[in-house]
Amino acid sequence: MSDYPRTAIELHDWFPTEQSCRDYLVRLRWPEGLRCPACGASKIWTMAAPFYRCAACGYDFTVTTGTLFADTHKPLRLWFEAIWSITNQKSGASALGVQRVLGLGSYRTAWNWLHKLRRAMVRQGRDRLAGVVEVDETFVGAPQPGKRGRGAAGKTLVVIAAQADGRKIGRIRLARVRDASAASLEPVVRQAIEPGTRVQTDDWQGYSGLKAVGYNHEVIRRNTELGDNLLPRANRIAALLKRWLLGTHQGAVRPRHLDYYLDEFTFRFNRRASGSRGLLFYRLLQQAVALPPVKGKDLVGGRPLTQSEPTTAGS
Ligand SMILES: [Zn+2]
Repeated sequence: MSDYPRTAIELHDWFPTEQSCRDYLVRLRWPEGLRCPACGASKIWTMAAPFYRCAACGYDFTVTTGTLFADTHKPLRLWFEAIWSITNQKSGASALGVQRVLGLGSYRTAWNWLHKLRRAMVRQGRDRLAGVVEVDETFVGAPQPGKRGRGAAGKTLVVIAAQADGRKIGRIRLARVRDASAASLEPVVRQAIEPGTRVQTDDWQGYSGLKAVGYNHEVIRRNTELGDNLLPRANRIAALLKRWLLGTHQGAVRPRHLDYYLDEFTFRFNRRASGSRGLLFYRLLQQAVALPPVKGKDLVGGRPLTQSEPTTAGS
């Protein structure tokens, strides 16, 4: 038996009811059998749907308790449609697109959903890059390469970490940063890349402290202006990211909302070999039920960016 639907028709065949959605989430969340989210016990009573009760501690819960779907007042079928829609658009989803596809009354709701799902795309701190990793920055939303040390109005600086896979690109991480100072760049590297990794950069001063914080830092070019192609993987990612942002969002991504799009791009890129769109749907649902709930108020307007807390896109 396959694990996920392959086509939109299969999606609707698989999930005609709320119960069918819940049953699927149960399999994704507890592949080894039901577990109490409160105490971890495995002896669980099935109550009137959708509830379960822990035989050990008496806690009542549902399959969405403690997940991204916990506080939703919308049908799970609609969430499944949204996730299907997002994972089946090669170029990515916009809030407006999701709103239209789902017939949601409110743009804000669609936007909130996209940004909640973003939390399922990233798995902070897990699976850091290792081996050989190129790190560089690029400006997003800028027609011309800018100077590094200072910010420029309307331009957002994004750090790219691209793992080498032979001559090809392995997995990537992206993060928005305030500027190209060491105080901004180093936390991103530490969050995205395993200590001891061979990290290749140019000789920009913002990277000069990487050796001191445990990396095998390798300076591979002298030029400190952006745009040279001596870090080919990082440069390739920069080009793909810009093309994707232009194609999907006509470049109309507000800097404060960019984090979401960086995460979506990373999620897609790191799974580009998956072949099946259904597999992306499966992975995103799987990660969504493995997450704590996210409050809407934490999402609206994006997160403030601080130097000490870079936003690292991962997957
Ligand atoms: Zn319990």
